[in-house]
Amino acid sequence: MFLAGKRALVTGSTSGIGLAVARALRAEGAEIVLNGFGPAEEIAKLTEELSASHSGADLTDAVAIEAMMAEAGPIDILVNNAGMQHVAPVDEFPVAKWDTIIALNLSAAFHTIRLALPGMKAKGWGRVINTASAHSLVASPFKSAYVAAKHGIAGLTKTVALEVAQSGITVNAISPGYVWTPLVENQIPDTMAARGLTREQVINDVLLAKQPTKSFVLPEDIGALAVFLCRDEARNVNGANWSVDGGWTAE
Ligand code: NAD
Repeated sequence: MFLAGKRALVTGSTSGIGLAVARALRAEGAEIVLNGFGPAEEIAKLTEELSASHSGADLTDAVAIEAMMAEAGPIDILVNNAGMQHVAPVDEFPVAKWDTIIALNLSAAFHTIRLALPGMKAKGWGRVINTASAHSLVASPFKSAYVAAKHGIAGLTKTVALEVAQSGITVNAISPGYVWTPLVENQIPDTMAARGLTREQVINDVLLAKQPTKSFVLPEDIGALAVFLCRDEARNVNGANWSVDGGWTAE
């Protein structure tokens, strides 16, 4: 329970990777602030399970982020994880989708970081963990907004890591390959349409084709790495972009 007494905000933690990270940090004693959307009864179950509070702030909205951060109070561990995907050729990419993806997958992290850092600096301890993606390192066609935002968050991670390097704070990115979550499941129909493939072909020939292990990453794998990054032994892991992608970006 080495995180007892630490408060962790995990954005996009009502589902998928964020929920697994919240569970892993909670198991080590952290006080959890959840964020994300979902049916009220499911969120109530999660807040009870994790003895957590919850913010339903829409992170595409900077004003809502400011309100969430003010309500949450000082944050020791900030996990910028909320994200969404849209799959379409760039010349058909809906402009509103581009703006939303950049706002959620990139700008939201800028806002939470700028608002959380003063408290971390005052305490001389902090952890910022950004869920990036294999798409922060390499591209795939039809994911222009997502790939641009994820390359952006990789750069933001490195920049802030340098700025806080002597403050007891580390800033790192975790870059998963394909993790079986609603985000991946929901992109299958658009990928079928964009590439003219069946569901099975998308899973095996598009998604798992990228991963030399030929298996999906588990959300719990990401939770375990987030816990490690919070340990004192990880104090010199700073500005890293840690791949958990079955070897995808090794090729
Ligand atoms: P998910 O769809 O299961 O969860 C997304 C979470 O973000 C949910 O809690 C949702 O409510 C929340 N969210 C969505 N829009 C929001 C908004 N406007 N404001 C606040 N919260 C919002 O997705 P996931 O697969 O768990 O993805 C989590 C992160 O991991 C994302 O940043 C994603 O890009 C990244 N990622 C996922 C994969 C994968 O294969 N699943 C791979 C690499 C990176």
